[in-house]
Amino acid sequence: MRTPIIAGNWKMNNTPKQAAQLIAELKPLVADADATVVVCVPAIDIPAAVQAVKGSKIKVGAQNVHFKESGAYTGEISAAMLKEAKVDYVIIGHSERRQYFGETDETVNQRVLAAVKAGLTPIICVGERKEQREAGYTDALVTYQTLIALQGLDAKEVAKVVVAYEPVWAIGTGLTATDEQANETIGVIRKAIAGKYGRAAANRVRIQYGGSMNPKNVKGLMAQPEIDGGLIGGASLKAEDFAKVVGFNK
Ligand code: PEP
Repeated sequence: MRTPIIAGNWKMNNTPKQAAQLIAELKPLVADADATVVVCVPAIDIPAAVQAVKGSKIKVGAQNVHFKESGAYTGEISAAMLKEAKVDYVIIGHSERRQYFGETDETVNQRVLAAVKAGLTPIICVGERKEQREAGYTDALVTYQTLIALQGLDAKEVAKVVVAYEPVWAIGTGLTATDEQANETIGVIRKAIAGKYGRAAANRVRIQYGGSMNPKNVKGLMAQPEIDGGLIGGASLKAEDFAKVVGFNK
């Protein structure tokens, strides 16, 4: 059985003070969660978030990591820096980074390798754009994105990563993939992982759905057998909403 994982992606929202406040509100609401709960915060908020989650099961994640260990990469943050700051998870390859910051499948792979080497758990985002779904390329595309991202890891390492299937057309748009669409595409991703890394790894890897997941649709999505959790943008910015998603709003 895979433990569900619900991760909030705050994107570029919340100052350090606001981060501490939001986590303080969230803590009692998710104290009994049966899921792994993660808040992926802006880098500047990490120390405040790490301090604020103390005494709870909430884990802190970052939203990106550079692939080099150190050097002349102005503005970047290494995996060792995140690790020392007590970060456990890191989002890699979010579609906004692919769209606005030139992230490619190859740099996603390099970041994944750097994260795993440093002992961070990557949350690897894959997903198709609207026109790619309409053209029938979804399965091929998510298979390719996933396998490239994992290249260089062994089966044991693959079993521990998190993949987030995020159809780009559903992110921040209010449009959600249907329960069946999300389940089916996540099944395709798991099958691709099984083909390359074996059934045991594929059965252990946690694959989230992301794209306008909220208290209203979480129950149906989480009832699907392939869906192991969610990567939540907008609905992670209010403690009450996020807590409802964490509890699958049962
Ligand atoms: C995301 O940022 O990964 C995301 C899924 O955002 P939203 O929930 O707002 O669609």
